[in-house]
Amino acid sequence: MNLHEYQSKRIFAKYGIPIPHGEVATTPAEARDIAVRLGRPVVVKSQVLVGGRGKAGGIKLAKTPDEAEARAHAILGMEIKGLTVKKVLVDEAADIQQEIYLGAVLDRARRRVVLMASSEGGVEIEQVAHDTPEKIVTVAVHPFLGLRDHQARILADGINLPKEHLRSFAKIAQSLYRAYLDVDATLAEINPLVVTGEGQLVAVDGKIALDDSALFRHTDLAEMADPAEEDPAEQEARRFGLNYINLDGEIGCMVNGAGLAMATMDIVKFSGGEPANFLDVGGGAQADKVAAALRIILSDDRVKAVLINIFGGITRCDEVARGVLEAIDTLERQDPFVVRLVGTNEEEGRRILAEANLITATSLADAARKAVAAAKGESA
Ligand code: GDP
Ligand code: MN
Repeated sequence: MNLHEYQSKRIFAKYGIPIPHGEVATTPAEARDIAVRLGRPVVVKSQVLVGGRGKAGGIKLAKTPDEAEARAHAILGMEIKGLTVKKVLVDEAADIQQEIYLGAVLDRARRRVVLMASSEGGVEIEQVAHDTPEKIVTVAVHPFLGLRDHQARILADGINLPKEHLRSFAKIAQSLYRAYLDVDATLAEINPLVVTGEGQLVAVDGKIALDDSALFRHTDLAEMADPAEEDPAEQEARRFGLNYINLDGEIGCMVNGAGLAMATMDIVKFSGGEPANFLDVGGGAQADKVAAALRIILSDDRVKAVLINIFGGITRCDEVARGVLEAIDTLERQDPFVVRLVGTNEEEGRRILAEANLITATSLADAARKAVAAAKGESA
């Protein structure tokens, strides 16, 4: 789950990271009032959960309250990358001398949280990583020691930060790391962290992505979710307790168990196809959950064939089969289904599915091959 800029920056502020004064407006008149209260030039910023708002025209400077109102009028209701702007953040404008990138993210390979800094702030970090990877400095944080002062210095030196900013930079980096840990984030980034004309460091933009699996520990943060901005399929999946991630391929995969789901995706690729999703229906899936999973998979237009791979342990193949039938009855689409059912109650499962028009497979390799062929419109 992603937080909006204003939500992320409020969290940063709680940890002592300097942010500009500002408030959120939903109407141009409110934006005007905020600009009056701030009593200085402001920046009016669209609050949508995508990057590159600046380039898309969703961030505008305003010198006067009248101008702030006009800017808010233009930005509210605007479409940015398919999302409609419903809120703007009206922040005191910063006098920007330098833009820095500072982010915390989990490095699974190193099994540590990594802090990344770059002198190329204001640009998306993926772009920097692609074009000039040497301009990104990283340090891995020891879970018991936290971010050490010398590590903050390594970051500061690596981005050629003038010495006089080192202390406040180190404090900000340590605060960012603590915030990241406390909220169970998967990403916390400040882009840009700016050096102002007055010689201060200020977090002008903020982004926090929360770990959905830890949201139960943060009910206050879970309430910040903006359902209008999430992928509807992923929302539906969460409602049914399914682990679902949408991908770009054409083979919809319904599998039980994360390991088996990954193995299934690998073998689909190995067979010349591309998985359309990762989906783990979990152990002991009931028919209604299976039916929901199939509806979610088939809500993706790119899907050309569905591969159902179930290894029945606690999950019963007959339950899964009933779910598949239930879903097929309600579907308008006539996509080919390839089914491999093995394990608990598999005979019963196969009997139930015999009456449906499905392609059956004996092994995982066989199932993947048939699904790829079916997606290409060939009969295997
Ligand atoms: P993003 O485009 O969605 O990443 O939004 P940002 O908040 O990062 O803003 C994009 C760019 O707009 C920044 O990199 C700055 O160059 C510029 N910008 C944002 N806020 C201000 C501000 O207060 N003053 C000035 N001069 N520029 C700003
Ligand atoms: Mn930004």
